[in-house]
Amino acid sequence: MSGRRLPGLLLATGQFLPVSDIHRLARTSSVARLVMDADSEILDMGRKVRRATAAQRRTILARYTSCMVDGCPLPAHLCQIDHIDNWSDGGATDLDRLGPTCQFHNRDRYRRPERYRLYRAGKDRWAFAYLGPRPTRRT
Ligand SMILES: [Zn+2]
Repeated sequence: MSGRRLPGLLLATGQFLPVSDIHRLARTSSVARLVMDADSEILDMGRKVRRATAAQRRTILARYTSCMVDGCPLPAHLCQIDHIDNWSDGGATDLDRLGPTCQFHNRDRYRRPERYRLYRAGKDRWAFAYLGPRPTRRT
């Protein structure tokens, strides 16, 4: 029997799989990194999913009291969980890269990123300073 015909071993179950199944899995699967806390709750999801998990949301609500844009009074529990690095730009759904923003600031930050500056507001907190519109050049 040649090496190409040997079956694959599915380590999780100890089950042997035909080579065709191994090839199909390799073509159709992706690798995901999950980081869990001591209670087995998922904290980091990488790029596998866009939306924050319930455990991530609970942790974020414990860290923040309001929208993470300076001066915005909307309480965190009424905010959306926002990717600090926009998801569409490759941002990860990892606890350290998520925070609460109100709907307005979530959209405005996406549309006008030049108006915001990210900074660390504590060991496990981020904030955005609102810089406002850039001055227009007079000709
Ligand atoms: Zn806001």
